[in-house]
Amino acid sequence: MDFELTQEQRMLQASARRMVAEFIEPILKAHDPEKPIPKPEMLRIFQRFGEEGLTAPRLPVEDGGSGMKMFDYGIVFEQMPSMIGHAMLSHEVTVTRIRAGSSEEQWRRLLPDMIAGRRIGCTGSTEPDTGSDSRGVRTRMRIEGEEVVVDGRKMWITNGDISDLCLVTCSAGVDANGRNQLQRVIVEREVGRYESRKIKCIGLKQGHMAELLFDNCRVPKSGAVSDKTDMARLLTVTWNANRALLGLMAVGMAQRAFDTALAYAGIRQAFGKLIGGTQLVQERLADMAAAIEASRLICYKALAAIDRGERVNALVAMAKRYATNACLDAISWAMEVHGAMGLSEEVGLEELYRDARMLLVPDGTNQILALIVGRELTGQDAFRR
Ligand SMILES: Cc1cc2nc3c(=O)[nH]c(=O)nc-3n(C[C@H](O)[C@H](O)[C@H](O)COP(=O)(O)OP(=O)(O)OC[C@H]3O[C@@H](n4cnc5c(N)ncnc54)[C@H](O)[C@@H]3O)c2cc1C
Repeated sequence: MDFELTQEQRMLQASARRMVAEFIEPILKAHDPEKPIPKPEMLRIFQRFGEEGLTAPRLPVEDGGSGMKMFDYGIVFEQMPSMIGHAMLSHEVTVTRIRAGSSEEQWRRLLPDMIAGRRIGCTGSTEPDTGSDSRGVRTRMRIEGEEVVVDGRKMWITNGDISDLCLVTCSAGVDANGRNQLQRVIVEREVGRYESRKIKCIGLKQGHMAELLFDNCRVPKSGAVSDKTDMARLLTVTWNANRALLGLMAVGMAQRAFDTALAYAGIRQAFGKLIGGTQLVQERLADMAAAIEASRLICYKALAAIDRGERVNALVAMAKRYATNACLDAISWAMEVHGAMGLSEEVGLEELYRDARMLLVPDGTNQILALIVGRELTGQDAFRR
């Protein structure tokens, strides 16, 4: 067992940090921190991601992807500013799902523009009335001649407002046992003309979270549906990697908070001495460092297990739940080390805290993740009656 990154992985990490510092951060800083980044700027970022192989890291090279190991993708992902990481994840997981769940004609037509970052994708599963229970979707799809008709609403959709395409989870009716039959429909915006409404949240304010409305939305059947894949399984497989990645996003944020707190503890004086020399501030720094280290290791372990093709349902659920909780605490402690300064917008910790709070919900709330771990440990499903 080797806990060190290889030389190639260190180079990958360094190059991701450079891209963030020299290309992404200047774009984010040039815009209002409270408002979504304009779509042309987001397209510039996506095109750069396309050049770096980050719009399709999970696809093999022969399908136009970069065939990255999930561990290596995680190292890059950890360096991303939170809003950008969310946008990238939503887009690339949509690419992955389209590749896995569409006909060859469909994915060969749609993916080149998405992989090049010329069109932005999103996945719409959650609805106003159902989120954690992904089998409960009510958005309906029906076939009329050569068209698919979609009716319903999707909520909290990352990239929703700037999306050119949405992979919509629909109900195609119920089977003989009364189970909801899920079907994914690819809706291109210029064809299906779905509407979006921005949703303002506590964090990720430069992002594009939206509600999407599909009202008698009609798209050609040939381009929109395929019976190729078990949708519930596809969602689970992609969620597994997403969970470890979102855990690493929390790690990256907590690391930035820790670095800020450590630097401040080395210059701020109280009672005639540096606060970094006081026992309770040192305890906070020690707790933060331990939270970050433990969170990073469990997320890395989960991604390495995914690369080996192992069953990881419990491990990724633990990784995201542990890392997001521990790192939210760590950011809060970094704020504490700064006193009132930690609450000011100037230092950036309050923004990190607000963004980190957003991580406790997507791709499985921390309560749902606890139930997944519980199910894996006991063999008993506590979700349903
Ligand atoms: C930053 C962010 C990005 C997102 N991006 C997307 C996206 O791109 N696409 C998309 O489709 N969705 C997206 N979502 C939505 C997200 O997936 C859902 O919000 C999430 O699945 C929870 O669903 P819900 O909000 O409806 O909560 P609910 O399912 O209504 O849950 C409400 C509360 O009840 C708890 N709960 C529910 N069932 C149980 C149970 N059986 N036992 C114990 N507790 C339970 C939950 O843990 C939660 O605390 C995003 C959300 C966020 C915050």
